[in-house]
Amino acid sequence: MKEVMIVTGASRGIGAAIARMAAARGYAVCVNYKSRRDAAEQVVSQIRAAGGEAIAVRADVSQEGDTVRLFETVDQELGTVTALVINAGILETQMRVDQMDAARVARIMQANVVGPFICAREAVRRMSTRSGGQGGVIVNISSAAARLGSPGEYVDYAASKGAMDTMTIGLAKEVAAEGIRVNGVRPGVIYTEIHASGGEPARVDRVAAKVPMGRGGQVDEVAAAVLWLCADEASYATGAIIDVAGGI
Ligand code: NAP
Repeated sequence: MKEVMIVTGASRGIGAAIARMAAARGYAVCVNYKSRRDAAEQVVSQIRAAGGEAIAVRADVSQEGDTVRLFETVDQELGTVTALVINAGILETQMRVDQMDAARVARIMQANVVGPFICAREAVRRMSTRSGGQGGVIVNISSAAARLGSPGEYVDYAASKGAMDTMTIGLAKEVAAEGIRVNGVRPGVIYTEIHASGGEPARVDRVAAKVPMGRGGQVDEVAAAVLWLCADEASYATGAIIDVAGGI
């Protein structure tokens, strides 16, 4: 069976690393992005240059209509999705809860909770043996923040990742007998551009000293865990959440 993976938010950072590693392992990959078309096309070019198959699809996966169109495009251009990595996620400027307004919290929940639910729904509808599908895997990219709470920085973001972890546990049980495995990965502090959105581009280096391993993580270290969860080697793993966080 052709293995088709959708990686949301794959134009940069952790998502781009997952897309490249998946393509190298034989998946046809959909590189989803929101606005950085140049970056997404570059990931696709790198994959094709290495002999892999990939397409870039613009879709704001916090919006239901865009997500439906993303999955329909993949149906038509690559084939039915067999692996979904829900990676797109956002955070906003570091601040305390007593400074946050409702609009900010709603944006975080829309992007990091509502969006992933709709992505998971579209995948389950296609993968579930209950509806004639062939099964598949879903991996949710959560965060160590779900355990740590991110005080003084972004408790809203941490809470959204806590919600994602609960979705992983519940959905895994809901579809376990329908050929679908659902797992999560909780990265710690990883070198990507996301920290600039929090207002501190060099955050990884500041926080690294507090990480038991004494360093920040690299995107490929997260991607490797995701690819293991997607592989047949992980055939009995569902509802699991792997910390890739240097010990924090
Ligand atoms: P990043 O470097 O900021 O990249 C974010 C990616 O997501 C980009 O490809 C961006 O697309 C895309 N994106 C954002 N919102 C989107 C939307 N609504 N629809 C479609 N695509 C969207 O982030 P990252 O650090 O790689 O983080 C990836 C995931 O890992 C996130 O869920 C994050 O919470 C989680 N994580 C990261 C860290 C870390 O230290 N980096 C730690 C724990 C967890 P454009 O390029 O088009 O903007």
